[in-house]
Order: sequence, then C-alpha cells, then structure tokens
Amino acid sequence: AFDTLVIGGGPAGAAAAIYSARKGINTGIAAGRFGGQVADTMGIENFISVSHTEGPKLVSALEEHVKDYEVDIMNLQLATSFKAAEAQGGLHEVSFDSGATLKSKTLVLATGARWREMNVPGEQQYRNKGVAYCPHCDGPLFKGKRVAVIGGGNSGVEAAIDLAGIVGHVTLIEFMGEMRADAVLQKKLKSLTNVDIILNAQSTEVTGDGSRVNGLIYKDRTNDESKSIALEGIFVQIGLVPNTEWLKGSPIEMTPRGEIIVDAHGMTSVPGVFAAGDVTTVPYKQIIIAMGEGAKASLGAFDYLIRN
Ligand code: FAD
Repeated sequence: AFDTLVIGGGPAGAAAAIYSARKGINTGIAAGRFGGQVADTMGIENFISVSHTEGPKLVSALEEHVKDYEVDIMNLQLATSFKAAEAQGGLHEVSFDSGATLKSKTLVLATGARWREMNVPGEQQYRNKGVAYCPHCDGPLFKGKRVAVIGGGNSGVEAAIDLAGIVGHVTLIEFMGEMRADAVLQKKLKSLTNVDIILNAQSTEVTGDGSRVNGLIYKDRTNDESKSIALEGIFVQIGLVPNTEWLKGSPIEMTPRGEIIVDAHGMTSVPGVFAAGDVTTVPYKQIIIAMGEGAKASLGAFDYLIRN
C-alpha cells in the first residue's frame, strides 16, 4: 500500500507527488491523462518566473520533475470509485477503469475540472483560435479587439468587467431575461462605456475564416430571429465542472456543484483524504494556485501520517 496516493496528474497532482516523495514516503500518482488542462493550453504567461511557455512544454517539465523522484507513475488510469478506510489510520481504496484497485493511508484528490462548453458548431474548430475560456489567461491576447462573453453569472460578468479594461469592446450574451450575477457586479458592468449586454440570447454558432474566429451567431429568444455579431474573440463563461462524478455517493463532502470541500490544510471531510486544485472549493482556478494547493495538501497528508 502507498503512504500517499495522488489521483490526477495536472499541476496540483504533480506538485503533491513531488512534495510527498521528498519526504521519503511511498508515493504513487494515478492520472487519466498526465498534464491535465495544461496539455490543452497554448500560451501561458502568468506562471510566475516564466514569462512565456506553452502547455505541452510545461507538461513535459512537470513529468520530468516528478520522474526525478521515486514516484510510482500510473498514466491513463481513470478512477471510478472510492472506499474510505473503516477506521482512522486505516487504508483507503480507489478503483480504476482498468479493474485495478490501489490502497493508501492517505489520498490527495486532484482530478481537476473542465470548462462547460456551449456545444455549438465552430466552438471546437476555433478553440484557442478566438474561442477562449480563461479571461485571466487569454484576455491580453485580445487587446483592443472585439470580444463576446457568454454567460451572465458572476464569472461571466466579472470576466466582462475585467476584459473591458483590456479589449476594445465587449458584448455580454445572456441566455435568460436577466443576468444572475450579484447586483454590485451588474451595476459596475452597466457603468462601462465599451460594453453591450444582450439578454434572451442563445448562442448558436461560432463563425470564422478558417483560421480564426470572426463572429458569433445567436438566436434572439424573444422572436426566434437569428442575429450575428462581428468580433475576434469569444470567452465562454458558463461554468467549470469539477471531475468528481466518480466520488458521487462517497462520504466526501462536496458543494451542490460537485466541488470538494477542503479545510485550511487541504483535508476533506474524510480523515486522511486531502484534495487540491480545480476540483476543490478553493477560488481562482489557475496553474500557480493548483500547484501551491497540491503542495499544501501533500504536506497536510504527511502531517496526518506522522500523527496516525
Ligand atoms: P487539471 O489540470 O484539470 O488536471 C486534472 C488531472 O486529473 C488530469 O491529469 C486528469 O487526467 C486527471 N483526472 C481527471 N479525472 C480523473 C479520474 N477520474 N481518475 C484519474 N485521473 C483523473 N491557468 C493559468 O494559470 N494560466 C493559463 O494561461 C491557463 N490557461 C488555460 C487554458 C485553457 C484552455 C484551460 C482549459 C485552462 C487554463 N488554465 C490556465 C487553468 C489551469 O489549466 C488549471 O487551473 C489547472 O490545470 C488546474 O490544475 P489541476 O491539477 O487542479 O487540474
């Protein structure tokens, strides 16, 4: 059995595995796909101390760093269920789609999240070619340009306010007849001169010239008319879905949205089970934050081990 088994091989999982291995304890890491969301990222310019890098490059650096230590790396392993230890200090069990079951005294759950997509034609074709999901990451790439933000919840309205300071013009598209964001955010948004808000609008297609986005088509839900907007960028802000389907029905406490609730040490409601990164309630989903949280959860797990 492992002392610490990390589930997930994104920045949070990689950091957790390195921190555990450096304590000289028996460490394993099992991941559906090593690298996580970083593998799908083009330019990264906010990984502090590295002015510019690319997703695949950072993924191989992460993998090399983990391989510097005695870590049992199990790639292409999707966890399907979790069984908590029967007594404090006992062994937790995780089962995988391969049929394998692994046991460990402590776990660090770092299965990350995925952006909810619009599922409309053109979205996949122009992903990273105008279609973006992270305003903190990609906002500066649209300096002076026209963009749309899809979604009028808190994240959509925050993104629109943030982007309005960088880009030339922002159109916020909301499906319902009103935005769901906090009133203070809505008020701030409405005070900005380079922002238009379109309510009752259902995005139906991302258009492009073959290499980059050039517009968005939406249906006006009040009269079913199809309309189009010319623009260079589309930020989709309709939710981040944590990868916790495999934990449903387990005793690990989660929010109604499926985020794992952790304490200041990264521990979940199950003693000995820790979590880190985008899969948790910790706000601001970023690489540097996921890494810090992974390190913290792993130190939390080590602390737990020496006390049990
Ligand atoms: P993830 O990176 O999501 O990794 C999750 C890991 O868990 C993966 O290895 C996955 O295969 C594995 N996994 C999932 N389910 C299971 C399962 N059931 N069993 C086993 N393994 C599982 N952040 C920045 O700071 N700067 C940027 O420029 C930036 N750009 C981005 C661009 C895009 C297109 C996207 C999608 C995200 C971007 N982000 C950026 C956000 C950043 O990638 C995430 O915050 C970060 O990757 C979160 O790390 P994580 O380790 O928590 O999760």
